[in-house]
Amino acid sequence: MHEAGIAQEIIRAALSAAPGREGLRILRVNVVVGSLSSVDPSSLRFAFEVLSAESEAMRGAELEIEETRPSCACKACGAGPFESVPFSCPACGSADMAVTGGDDLLIESIEVAD
Ligand SMILES: [Zn+2]
Repeated sequence: MHEAGIAQEIIRAALSAAPGREGLRILRVNVVVGSLSSVDPSSLRFAFEVLSAESEAMRGAELEIEETRPSCACKACGAGPFESVPFSCPACGSADMAVTGGDDLLIESIEVAD
């Protein structure tokens, strides 16, 4: 389960985004997870809950996960973007498809208590 490592990274990044603040409280971390990134959102949420409880600043913080759908386009004829990733282009039959989204894994924003 690599979600634990990812949750650790998210927490580290969230804490370093607001360093050295006395009594810092992080309320919510918004992340974008693409459905091609092979991250299971419920596992990630669980790992985040467990790991965030170890940090004073993160305790009780929520993890908001936005899942993005994959998209891809045909490199041969430029058709797309398609919402799923077909094995070959529906327009020209080329197998030369480029994934243009859906593999994201990033922190979009962090909400901190005043
Ligand atoms: Zn095509």
